Order: sequence, then C-alpha cells, then structure tokens
Amino acid sequence: MKAAVVREPVDGFVDVKDVTLRDLKPGEALVDVEYCGLCHTDLHVAAGDFGEKPGRIIGHEGVGIVSKVADGVDAVKVGDRVSIAWFFKGCGHCEYCLTGRETLCRQVQNSGFTVDGAMAEQVIVDANYAVKVPDGLDPVEATSLTCAGVTMYKAIKVADVKPGQWVSVVGAGGLGNLAIQYAKHVFGAHVVAVDGNPDKLQAAKEAGADLLINRHDGDVDKQIQEKVGGVHAALVTAVTTAAFDQAVDSLRPDGKLVAVALPQGDMQLNIAKTVLDGIVVAGSLVGTRQDLAETFQFGAEGLVHPIVKTRKLSEINDMIQELMDNKVVGRNVVDFVHNK
Ligand SMILES: [Zn+2]
Ligand SMILES: [Zn+2]
Repeated sequence: MKAAVVREPVDGFVDVKDVTLRDLKPGEALVDVEYCGLCHTDLHVAAGDFGEKPGRIIGHEGVGIVSKVADGVDAVKVGDRVSIAWFFKGCGHCEYCLTGRETLCRQVQNSGFTVDGAMAEQVIVDANYAVKVPDGLDPVEATSLTCAGVTMYKAIKVADVKPGQWVSVVGAGGLGNLAIQYAKHVFGAHVVAVDGNPDKLQAAKEAGADLLINRHDGDVDKQIQEKVGGVHAALVTAVTTAAFDQAVDSLRPDGKLVAVALPQGDMQLNIAKTVLDGIVVAGSLVGTRQDLAETFQFGAEGLVHPIVKTRKLSEINDMIQELMDNKVVGRNVVDFVHNK
C-alpha cells in the first residue's frame, strides 16, 4: 500500500512509497484510510524538529473505515468509520490516564510521529483509542475536527467559557476559524477575532465573529478594552510572542489566557496585573477521546464547518511547500477514496 514516509536523510519532505504494514497485535484494528489532512505538525515531523524519524509514515488527521480487527477486539468492528488523531494512545494506567487528562500521559504515543500515521492507504490503530466518526459528519470535514477542531474545542473548555461572555481568538487561521465557530455556535460566547490578514478576518466574520480587530490598526489590547471592556478569555493560536503579551493585556479582571500556539520564547506576564486582576494562564494540548467525540458530534449536528480542500497523495510535497509558504486557507486533505 502507498504511504507518505519521512525522507532519509531528513529534509522536511516525504517520499510516497509502497509499504507493507506489520500484522495486527492484540487490541488493534486495521483501517482503510479515506481522507487525511496535512498539518503544520506533520511538517515538524518531516523536518525532524521533534527528533528525526526517517521512514515514519506521517499523518494524524485521518479518517477511514475499519477493515480488520484482531481477535477479541470489541471497541470497534469492521465497517466502522474511525479517526486517527495525534493522540494515538496513552499508557492507560497513570495518574493522567486515570483522571481524564490522558493527553498529558508521559508514555503517550502520537500518530505519524512515534507510530506510523494515517497519510497512507492503510493504518493500524489501537481499537480502544480510535474515536468513532458519527453518522452525518462529512468524513472530509471530520479530518480537520480530529486535530484543529478538538484542539480548540478543548481550549474553550479549559477557558471555562460561559454563555454571553466575551472570548478573543488571537490568530484567525485554521485553528482560529474553528475556535470562533465553537465559541459562538456551541458555547454561546461573543467572539473577538484578531488577525493581521484581511482575508482571514473576513473568514472570521463568516464563521460568526462579532468584532474584528486588525492588529495593524493599533494596540490590540487597547481596542479590545475600549470596545468590550476586556475579554473573559483569550485563546491564542498566533505563533508570535507579541500576540501572547497583547492577549494578557486584553483580559478583563478574573480573565483567563489559554495558550495553544507554540512560538519559541517567553510571554511577558506582569506580576502586579496577574495578582491584582486575578489573571489565570493555562496551556491546552489537543484533547482526549471524549473531547474528540464531543467535537465530532457538534460537527455532525452542523454547528461547525472546517474549510477543507481535497488533493491527491502524489501532490503531498507540493502541499508541504504551500503550507510552509503560508499559502493555504483552511486545510488540504488527501483523498484516498477517489485517487487509487
Ligand atoms: Zn494536526
Ligand atoms: Zn498514562
């Protein structure tokens, strides 16, 4: 079967190769991949940024149909549509796995990084960790919910957003656009979208943002404080440290900053403001299986729609280059169904 594997030597791109998967172990299932999105995280894996993995099959925004299960597997059955997410599996028995925080497990495995991923015609999954894709959810859209969708849905939960509160989404790209949709249509919040790109702000408006702030139009925090009195929560998906600093200053008292993006460096955190205003700063990393099931369900109910475009596996290195060059609006998704 065809798969996109990290090159040897590692150079940021992949080779499309014929690969034979090993036999299933107990507890595992084989999935015939239908669609798999390409994410910035895949670029980091292909470039060796998290450690070099030549020969590794990339891909963690996969959706496909179970075609075979190992003896004794009952969590999924042949014919089920399941997802392949960055959170491939945890150890199942540590403090974090036992208390609903499994993505923080120190023995975590990640699809397309520590184990072979879904940018391939077939992928092996752990049946207990493969979250089902509900009927009614478009499998192409489901690929983006598997990564960006669950990441932002979880970040809004971490922010503890209540109906009627103001939330800023700083960075209105793929992650931010979904954050706006979940915050507005699922959590009932009012949303401020912050970006420097007019096209992304326009897309943010269409996604439901109530207030658009172009960061080139002056101090973001001052504009937000003037217009809405500060936000209850700021979700930061922009990869600059300045965006984090502005987001802290845009909070109202008892506000919460949730960090999702991973820029190099530190954020400025004024101690007096943090103490006197009771500011909370939290990090949020993807989501658990339960978070993903909830993320999918809202998609199936039509409340959120990621921007997706299907491509061929043979175009994978062009897709990588376009993502590197920041030319992609929404998500490029490889179609394994119609391009055999
Ligand atoms: Zn991803
Ligand atoms: Zn664990």
